[in-house]
Amino acid sequence: MNRKRKSRRNRRRKPVLPYILGTVFLLVAVVFSVKGLANNSASPSPTPSQTVETPKPSQAPDETPSIPTAPVITPEPTVDTGFETMTMKQDDIYQGKLVLINASHHYKFIDFENFVCLYNYKTDSYKVGDYDILFAEDAVPPLNRMLDDFYYNSGVKAVMAVSGHRTYEFQQYLFDKEVALVGAEEAALWVAQPGASEHHSGLAIDFSVYYDSGEYFDYDGTGDFAWINENCHRYGFIVRYSPDKQDITGIGFEPWHFRYIGIPHATKVTELGMCYEEYIDYLRDYSYENPLSIRTDEGEVYDTYFCEGLKVYVPKNSDYEISGNNVDGFIVTVKGS
Ligand SMILES: [Zn+2]
Repeated sequence: MNRKRKSRRNRRRKPVLPYILGTVFLLVAVVFSVKGLANNSASPSPTPSQTVETPKPSQAPDETPSIPTAPVITPEPTVDTGFETMTMKQDDIYQGKLVLINASHHYKFIDFENFVCLYNYKTDSYKVGDYDILFAEDAVPPLNRMLDDFYYNSGVKAVMAVSGHRTYEFQQYLFDKEVALVGAEEAALWVAQPGASEHHSGLAIDFSVYYDSGEYFDYDGTGDFAWINENCHRYGFIVRYSPDKQDITGIGFEPWHFRYIGIPHATKVTELGMCYEEYIDYLRDYSYENPLSIRTDEGEVYDTYFCEGLKVYVPKNSDYEISGNNVDGFIVTVKGS
């Protein structure tokens, strides 16, 4: 018993100070620990995976915060092809220097044609058979250049322009006269029916030969004059009716009949050895995305293509010309750089 009491007494007397100091130390440690956690949560330091955003210049401190809105979807920009479209009129298909005119595709007459009196505009290198021969205004300078160069090269001043623009009525007169002479079947081979003649357009011209001595010949494109038939494409003309294409053109060989279609196309028609009917069909294979390239004898480069119907593609940044084909669409000719 006593021992028990003694032992209780001894326990009570154990030193108290180490307990107090230990408790205080623990309290201080807990307080500092809690304070440290509080500081950490107030200013977290970035971990490597976090992105630190620097303020953008536009974000001024006093700027009103923008209200979040639904995202705006910007459409993808369409690919710029360098072309734009034009909508032509139906009547435009029948106009222009590239129109095909034959028995199947008659010329469509319009009220105001750009014809000029050839006698007033011609140079001294050739003659005209009549004072009132009319010719398309745009085709006169190329005609003058061609016959000036011929005269310069040959010294022969005997080419005589004998027929340019013809009215429907005059073509009727010529056709009827031929029928009376050789019969309808033969006449159709040499004189186009009214409406079917290229002469209506003012873009075709016939030559004869007339020397100052008074001698007069049909023009056959041989001898001195072969130079004209071989080089006319360099001036924008083609020999429209060649002997090997009679089954397509329906017209016999006419070495005296020249049609103006401009230098690039005259060059290509000659290079391909086609008649104009074939060439108009050939161009159908070429679009603005896949144009036909033409290089003239003088080294100028053109692209050309066909547009069916009334919607025509034209380049935004290049010079171009549009002509109807007198059938079903337009031919665009683009000058290269
Ligand atoms: Zn003719």
